[in-house]
Amino acid sequence: MEQQSQDSLRTKDATIALAYKPIIRGYFAVAAAYYGIMTLTHFWLLEGSSLALLASVSSIAFIAALIAYHLVGRDIHIAQLEILTNTINLLVVANVLAALHVEFSQLKLVYFIMMAMIFAFASVSMRQAMISIGIALVGLFSQAIRYDAQSQIMHGFVGFAAAISAVAIAYFLRRAIGLAIADRQQADHARAYAETRLAEALELSEKMRLQSMSDSLTGLPNRRAYYDKLTEGKLEAAKSRTVWLILLDLDGFKAVNDNYGHLMGDELLKSVADRLRSHCTKDAHVSRIGGDEFSIIYFGDAHEISVENWCSSLLDRLAKTYLIEDRLIRISGSIGCCRISSEDPDSTLMQKADFALLHAKKSGKNRVVLFEGRHAEKAAEHFMIEKALRAADFDREIELVFQPQYHIDRQEVVCVETLARWNSPSIGKIGPEQFIRIAEETGLIANITLSVFKKAIAALDGFDDPVPLSVNLSANDLNSNRTIDDLIACLDESNVRPELIEFEITETAMMTDAGRATANLRRLSKRGHSIALDDFGTGFSNFSYLRTLPIDKLKVDRSFLENKADPMTERILHSLVGMARTLEVHCLLEGIESELDMLMAKRVGAQSVQGYLFGMPLSADEMRALRRNPPLLKQTG
Ligand code: C2E
Ligand code: MG
Ligand code: MG
Repeated sequence: MEQQSQDSLRTKDATIALAYKPIIRGYFAVAAAYYGIMTLTHFWLLEGSSLALLASVSSIAFIAALIAYHLVGRDIHIAQLEILTNTINLLVVANVLAALHVEFSQLKLVYFIMMAMIFAFASVSMRQAMISIGIALVGLFSQAIRYDAQSQIMHGFVGFAAAISAVAIAYFLRRAIGLAIADRQQADHARAYAETRLAEALELSEKMRLQSMSDSLTGLPNRRAYYDKLTEGKLEAAKSRTVWLILLDLDGFKAVNDNYGHLMGDELLKSVADRLRSHCTKDAHVSRIGGDEFSIIYFGDAHEISVENWCSSLLDRLAKTYLIEDRLIRISGSIGCCRISSEDPDSTLMQKADFALLHAKKSGKNRVVLFEGRHAEKAAEHFMIEKALRAADFDREIELVFQPQYHIDRQEVVCVETLARWNSPSIGKIGPEQFIRIAEETGLIANITLSVFKKAIAALDGFDDPVPLSVNLSANDLNSNRTIDDLIACLDESNVRPELIEFEITETAMMTDAGRATANLRRLSKRGHSIALDDFGTGFSNFSYLRTLPIDKLKVDRSFLENKADPMTERILHSLVGMARTLEVHCLLEGIESELDMLMAKRVGAQSVQGYLFGMPLSADEMRALRRNPPLLKQTG
């Protein structure tokens, strides 16, 4: 502790001594000038021994002051500075003593007082000040001894007063300088402290900004950062540069999550991000914008062909096997891209790339699709429908039509399929093939399904002699526990007998998340609802799932009847019907448009038929009328 305070005192003294350097240097300069002039004056006014004595001491003082002036300018130690100053002071006193020796005058004794004062002002340290003041006073007393005792006492008092004043001047001057320095140091410290804190705060805020712009799992820039890059891309595009927006979606990532668990899924995403990072060098900025969705802004000024090649090589890289926790995983990706135009709003650009991505998915995945002029019209229609769907009030805008299913042997309507019709107030009538697909893509289908379902239940109430109604479920419905819960809640409220509601599902619906879809299907089947497999034959050639799923009816797709002239058609239908019979499942042929179709249905042994032969899908009123007067099927074949 003591050591510490001594150290700090020492550094304080050193700092003050340094502050004195310019004063001391000035003092030496004045001394050199003074003694230079004095030497010349001596040569001018004196002669003989007086000249020899005074000129030599003054010239020595002149040269010494010059050397001292020069040395102070260098990097010298405090002790050396003290020695220099004392030497010059000693020479000053020697000059006065020599002058007194040549010509004594009592008046000249005042020089010693003046010298003590000057030495007090120009001293490096207190120690040096004391020595120099001491030298001046010794000089004074050495002359005072020439007088009588009383005069000596008087000179003693004067000398003492001069000493006190000089020491006081030296002390207070040094103190004032010390305080000024301390203030400045404090201010410097405060500034340095503030600057350090400011730098820390800036660093922290930059770190936070980067964090808020990056995805915590993969470390890639996130959606927010992506929008910033998109804006940058648009600015570049405005300068006529070619910039591309590339959307990448992994194919079948959900299955990885379901089969291997979410932790593996996360690891896979990290590895995918690594591959993306290494593919996207300086011109391409990749971000993660969703679960398994990534976007790249490609500034490469590339033509269509080269951007397509670049994307294809990216897909090749992504498709290579991943080794994650000792498991080999394979996954592919689909890419949709569009050229960035500075005039398009962000949403339009996203829609274009999304549309291209959708095409890539639909046309077999693991491929690149560029949004082109020919897509524009379709895309515009797609987005118009999507917009109208988002704003739609389905309970008001959706209507049901009904299509009967005839039992061939019993010659009666055994079931009625409900088909949705949408009349949008903003864009008019849209066919279900179109709006159902877009509703599925946008996740709005659940609302449509519920609306259709409520209407179907209400229609059932309107039939005098209720006939089972079949309702179409889409893949999203079957994979959503919530939608199935909602449907069951609706049924519970209505008290409709379960055998009056049949659900139609498609093979593809079973493929997305087989586990969940099967569980939901079983829930419905266990409640007593019949389950029909719609569009049968268009999906997969492997029918093994038919044995495990609770299917009651196969609806053979109408596309089989498109090639009626081909003898194979009848044979295929025959075997499909045979298979249904083996599985003890009801078999219906869809798309019966003519008597010929009807004949074929009978020949292949289908139990029921559905199609335009019995008219277009009917309104609820028409349906009621038909039920009262069923058409007679011709007894052909
Ligand atoms: P789907 O479930 O296979 O329905 C049968 C479709 O075939 C209906 O077309 C019907 O009008 C049409 N059709 C019936 N008989 C014939 C025929 O003899 N010849 C021809 N060429 N076509 C015939 P629609 O009403 O346009 O529905 C198309 C598809 O839209 C439906 O196919 C179904 O997948 C879907 N859909 C319709 N309503 C709904 C619904 O409420 N929910 C869901 N999820 N999908 C629905
Ligand atoms: Mg159907
Ligand atoms: Mg069908």
